[in-house]
Amino acid sequence: PGTLYLVPTPIGNLADITERAVDVLKEADIIACEDTRHTRILLDHLSIGGHVVSYHEHNKKEAGPKIIDLLKDGKSVAQVSDAGMPVISDPGADLVRLAIEAGIPIVPLPGPNAALTALVASGLDARQFAFIGFLPKITAKRKKLLQDMSRVPVTLIFYEAPHRIKETLDILMKALGDRKAVTARELTKKFETFERGTLSSIRSHMDEEDPRGEYVILVEGWNQDMEEKEGEETSWQDEALELAK
Ligand code: SAM
Repeated sequence: PGTLYLVPTPIGNLADITERAVDVLKEADIIACEDTRHTRILLDHLSIGGHVVSYHEHNKKEAGPKIIDLLKDGKSVAQVSDAGMPVISDPGADLVRLAIEAGIPIVPLPGPNAALTALVASGLDARQFAFIGFLPKITAKRKKLLQDMSRVPVTLIFYEAPHRIKETLDILMKALGDRKAVTARELTKKFETFERGTLSSIRSHMDEEDPRGEYVILVEGWNQDMEEKEGEETSWQDEALELAK
């Protein structure tokens, strides 16, 4: 069979594509991408023609098996998402599983990823961390997840869209307490900004300036000192409760 390549693409700065990614995209028989128009822009920039097919959240049930058939026929497939590592809060996981079941070789390429890029400059403990990605939209699921995470003693990494970031900071404050936190905005782009403080200080800053662009939120992990504070009903908790209603 052919090989399934998992190819990371830039998260903002086009110069972050690796030489190897360019070679694989050039040589692949098929490029499976989330949004064909979006990927075309990158391919045009790299002067790569490429035969693109769409593979995303809403067509993966039909598109996945078709891509596997092409791989079985000996075609090589490069899978990309709109930005960063495929599979990480992006499509690709099902394709990987189908390929494994079908005995198709998988070659992942290293490259851009927002979570790790944010983590290394956050100043928070990077020895151990948990990547949470987007919080579930369903309240009960979100509460359960955050409850499970509230005692996890490693840095927590979240993704969020700009229009939901204020609400998410409130939710995190309520569930985890006013911990140290960092936001990384527009990584690798012109307006890349890190804000280091606490969940509440970052949240109040956002009232002054409306959040724009893409964000990673990092929150320090649970530690013993937090235990002592637990039970003490503080004003920020009351405030957060109000906001979360
Ligand atoms: N696959 C991607 C990766 O490897 O990082 C993540 C894709 S996910 C659909 C998009 C989310 O990643 C955004 O909502 C944001 O939280 C984060 N993100 C992506 N690019 C970013 C950037 N340049 N700066 C900050 N956050 C970014």
